[in-house]
Amino acid sequence: MTTDKTPVEKTPQDRATPPDPTSPWTIDVLREISRRPGTMKPWVRDVPAPDDFGLEVIGVPAGEPIHLDLRLESVVEGVLASGGVSADVVGECSRCLGPVHDHVDVDLTELYAYPDSVTDETTDSDDVSRIVDEKIDLEPAVRDAVLLELPNAPLCREDCPGVASPDEQAWAFVPAGTARERIDPRWAALQERFAGDSTDT
Ligand SMILES: [Zn+2]
Repeated sequence: MTTDKTPVEKTPQDRATPPDPTSPWTIDVLREISRRPGTMKPWVRDVPAPDDFGLEVIGVPAGEPIHLDLRLESVVEGVLASGGVSADVVGECSRCLGPVHDHVDVDLTELYAYPDSVTDETTDSDDVSRIVDEKIDLEPAVRDAVLLELPNAPLCREDCPGVASPDEQAWAFVPAGTARERIDPRWAALQERFAGDSTDT
């Protein structure tokens, strides 16, 4: 709808959204670390998990802490963030549907390239993260690292017997041949559901 004919000049920074300066995931690298290669700074923080930080079946509940034990290092091409990420995760057991409580501990190594670097000119911003407006956003890299570590089919414990055990206990006092038949359609539905789940893994 605009009548402005001035062509929009593409700069490297157009390729990435500037990090939200108020986000706890954003690091103002200009302020935090010298651009001189070799300079290092520890970056240790507990950052609250945003919504949907995980898979559908397991993840870090929103607001719960994600512990970052990182080191920022000035390199020629940008800033290298490396170290460990850990968090408690909560999910649903894929066999018995009971709660799953677990802990993830992953290594992270992520390069954030300067907008005027060779890396910036020779790589895609989907492959190598960028420093935008002198800031980096740690969230996408941390999210990717944690997601890779999460199981597609979490278990409450290694040898979870599934729904069979509690269900059989519940029905044990019911005379055989009465109510037991009525549960069969439900079992069939459950089996279908689990068969569907296993194809995803
Ligand atoms: Zn279970």
